[in-house]
Amino acid sequence: MCRFRIYPSPAQEAALLEQCRHARHIWNLALEQWSMWTRDQGPTPGYVEQARQLTEARAVFGWLRAGSQMVQQQALRDFEQAVKNFYAGSHRRPTWRKAGVHEGFRIAGSQASRIRKLSRKWAAALVPKVGWVRFRLSRAVPDAKSYRMTRDRQGRWHIAFAAIPEPIPAPGTGEIVGIDRGVTVSAALSTGELLTCPKLSERERQRLKQLQRRLARCRRGSNRRQRVKAAMAKLHARAANRRKDWVEKTSTDLARRFDAIRVEDLDIVSMTSRPKAKPDPTRPGAYLPNRRGAKSGLNRGILTNGWGDLVHRLEQKARGRVEKVNPAYTSQTCSVCGHCAPGNRESQAVFWCVACGHRAHADVNAAVNIAAGRAVSARRETPAWVSPKREPQHATSA
Ligand SMILES: [Zn+2]
Repeated sequence: MCRFRIYPSPAQEAALLEQCRHARHIWNLALEQWSMWTRDQGPTPGYVEQARQLTEARAVFGWLRAGSQMVQQQALRDFEQAVKNFYAGSHRRPTWRKAGVHEGFRIAGSQASRIRKLSRKWAAALVPKVGWVRFRLSRAVPDAKSYRMTRDRQGRWHIAFAAIPEPIPAPGTGEIVGIDRGVTVSAALSTGELLTCPKLSERERQRLKQLQRRLARCRRGSNRRQRVKAAMAKLHARAANRRKDWVEKTSTDLARRFDAIRVEDLDIVSMTSRPKAKPDPTRPGAYLPNRRGAKSGLNRGILTNGWGDLVHRLEQKARGRVEKVNPAYTSQTCSVCGHCAPGNRESQAVFWCVACGHRAHADVNAAVNIAAGRAVSARRETPAWVSPKREPQHATSA
């Protein structure tokens, strides 16, 4: 993904926001239709039928007609892709788009290539119904089939070109690396390296907590509440930027250094979903504690570490060189003698083999097992097919 900051004029900003509103409205309508599915009513309308309905709606409603048809159709296409991803198991269920949170729309096809370079530092894109919007050239504009205009929660606008990174050629040394992804250490390599995804500092986290408390005291809809929310959004955006930067650098580095990269095939979707409610056998209708709170803490860890993002990028940069390995028993098996026992784990951090006495960092030991491909190969080898026209999606974009 190649992103540039855009600087719209006040009139352009209003026009851009209007387009975001249209895209959001169409997406939510499509979601509503999709969620009305019942067993006895047959399939809900797909993209073709929805696009036809859109044409009809544009004929009736002037405010919809005033917007760009391309933007509105793309919202339907995006929704279709989201549903496909959901059924393929690579993404979670499509959600409602909210004002102030999901402000963005996509331009695709020939209209996405109307880019003009103004000077060494400035360029402009011709956005339908908005006009030429200037953006700051912080690097070369990639050759992309589509772009997305977004407004973040702080009110900054960006243009993001959908460019799948060029695959990096393998070094040809025959070297294989195993990666174990953990919560305390983001990634442990079989070489013994421990990689940590940068998070918010202790001070920044305290500031966030302080802001959260302040937010609770603000009246709904007040200016003060908006200011506090903007300050919080700034911290969240900072964390997301650091994570993205780490993912890009780490994936490039790994793709350059190793011929084959083996990762554990963790089903992130099921790991981050809510734990099942546990009915109490002695009291009908009552529930036992299911450690939901503990799991949500773990979920936060998983998401801040950006596991999904890292593997996704690795698959693009080291195309065909990423292997997914079933992680069963990789944390209990000794990487030296192969002895597998639950007692091998001395603690969360230390691995100590009860058979041969091998002692190592627990995550590194698991990474060596993954590199050896010791476990059986995984269920899903190939990622869900995604159209090359589709811009790369981040599971947790801010
Ligand atoms: Zn051993």
